[in-house]
Amino acid sequence: MDVKKIYMDSDALLEGHFKLSSGNHSQFYLQSAKVLEDPKNAAALANGVAIQIQDSGLEVDTICAPALGGLIAGFALATALNKRSIFAERVDGEMTIRRGFEISVGEKVVICEDIITTGGSAMEAARAVEAMGGVVVGFAALANRGFCDRQNSEITKKANCKLPDETPFFALEDFTFEMYTPDECPLCKEGKSEAIKPGSRGN
Ligand code: ZN
Repeated sequence: MDVKKIYMDSDALLEGHFKLSSGNHSQFYLQSAKVLEDPKNAAALANGVAIQIQDSGLEVDTICAPALGGLIAGFALATALNKRSIFAERVDGEMTIRRGFEISVGEKVVICEDIITTGGSAMEAARAVEAMGGVVVGFAALANRGFCDRQNSEITKKANCKLPDETPFFALEDFTFEMYTPDECPLCKEGKSEAIKPGSRGN
């Protein structure tokens, strides 16, 4: 499966001059919601992750996605694995499991995102699952931003990856592109464009 092509064809991998939420600048931006607006893409990508999880022999009871970003990917992965699908959401800044979702003691949960960057939200969802007695047995994402080391990839974990070493992380593709502080940004130095916030033009 050519994941990059699926992203490009869906205008989900944008090229330009972007200001990321971290304040850093980048020539590329990933907008996973765009790739998932076609349910066939969501199903195909999630199926690819499901195959990796099944091949690893990992036992899973439930998929839990941090809202909002992980919702569609999590539901699609749960569908592919024929497992329960729940989500965690932020309430007053804290990732919480609500909506009457229950987790039994020892229930094996995979945390699923659309894209894992440093894994911060995924870890917050993992703590919420563990607080209810669940066991986080894996992390999953459709794509990896290159900070964490997923299964079957040569990528080395960066210092800012928050996922634990002992828990497997499954994803289909590494999207590793450079980020620059505004002072060091070569696109700023070129002076032909100003960094824009993705979404600042209504998307
Ligand atoms: Zn710049």
